[in-house]
Amino acid sequence: MGENFAFFLPIMMASFGVAFLIVWGWGARGAGWWSGAFFSVAGGFAVPVAFQALPTHIWGIVADLLFATGFLLFSQALLDRWRPGWLLRLRCAIWGGSVALCAFAVLIDHVPLELVSSDFGCFLLISLPLVAARGQLRRWSDRALYAAAVLVSLDNLVRGSSVSFTLPSGVPFRDSDYAFLMQALACMFGLFLALSALAACVLDLIARYRHDAHVDPLSGLLNRRGFDEAVARRHRRGGSLIACDIDHFKRVNDEHGHGLGDRVIVALGDMLRTLAPADAVAARFGGEEFILFLPGTDAAGAAGIAEAVRTHFAEQAAARLGLSRPLTASFGLTTLHRADPSIHDAIARADSALYEAKEKGRNRVCVRRALAMPHAVPATDDRLRRA
Ligand code: GH3
Ligand code: MG
Ligand code: MG
Repeated sequence: MGENFAFFLPIMMASFGVAFLIVWGWGARGAGWWSGAFFSVAGGFAVPVAFQALPTHIWGIVADLLFATGFLLFSQALLDRWRPGWLLRLRCAIWGGSVALCAFAVLIDHVPLELVSSDFGCFLLISLPLVAARGQLRRWSDRALYAAAVLVSLDNLVRGSSVSFTLPSGVPFRDSDYAFLMQALACMFGLFLALSALAACVLDLIARYRHDAHVDPLSGLLNRRGFDEAVARRHRRGGSLIACDIDHFKRVNDEHGHGLGDRVIVALGDMLRTLAPADAVAARFGGEEFILFLPGTDAAGAAGIAEAVRTHFAEQAAARLGLSRPLTASFGLTTLHRADPSIHDAIARADSALYEAKEKGRNRVCVRRALAMPHAVPATDDRLRRA
């Protein structure tokens, strides 16, 4: 392996360090560990260059320290995904033991002992996360990362076990098979590890942004965009829609402050979540307005659910939040119809039923049926009121 290659490795590893630093800056927490790990390993590979400028044994200890630290950070980065904080003390002890043994070997000028201590330390550090990953490899990015870490771990194990063959006595380290294998395999497996870790970090980031784009942070329910996406493929199979709005909510804000208003929104969101069936899609459409899509549920079933939420909210919300005046909400209900060009037509119907509930005195459920036939007259129904 030529001198140029020796220059290439630290530059490659440091470039990954920079790439992870950028991803960390975008908000991917785990990328910080990867960045630190690749910078450390880059430092370890840069040591021969420093040694040429200033030949001293100290550089050997520095390189061992940097490799061990890099692998401690690799283990931290991997465990951050699969089992945060697992066996931190043991990993620090392996790091310390490996560095101490390397330093001892450097002091007595025993190169094979130094290499074996370093390789086995690195092997143990990167192998522990592989044990912890059991049952955590659901995404393909985690499986790729696992495969890369297995290769790096085996590389260290095989290299450390074969020092007597790859570094025969009398052969200078730079000209040995050991040095060649170390550089060539570090280049291949390091590249695989870095690219799979980078993919995993970026995919995590995208998943988080997607979640933030689709979920309302206050109630934890879907927002309008999340709702549209969740029902896009399901509403064709029919079902019912419930629109819901808290009554006189502005008064709650005015009398008790915005903070308590927020807690009222959270309380109604929780009730929708718990009282709706598991396959329902609940969303906060803005302010104090909510939408519930009930796939495969007919008007009678949906009316039962709306009524359950209405009574729970009216009977429990105010007491739970320490308010003397009762809190109520109004509901508009409709069923989806095959003739609806989009779910938004059904939402408009549910909204108009909700408007009717407000008009009729609030704290009730009103129903607006879909047009079954082009000439049918829309019917409304507020028999469900139980104020
Ligand atoms: P109605 O019974 O007719 O629905 O009357 P309302 O007072 O509930 O309706 P209105 O539309 O007049 O007021 C809605 C209020 O909701 C006004 C706005 O300040 C408040 N609001 C909107 N978003 C939030 C929020 O996220 N938190 C809080 N606390 N208040 C909000
Ligand atoms: Mg309101
Ligand atoms: Mg409103």
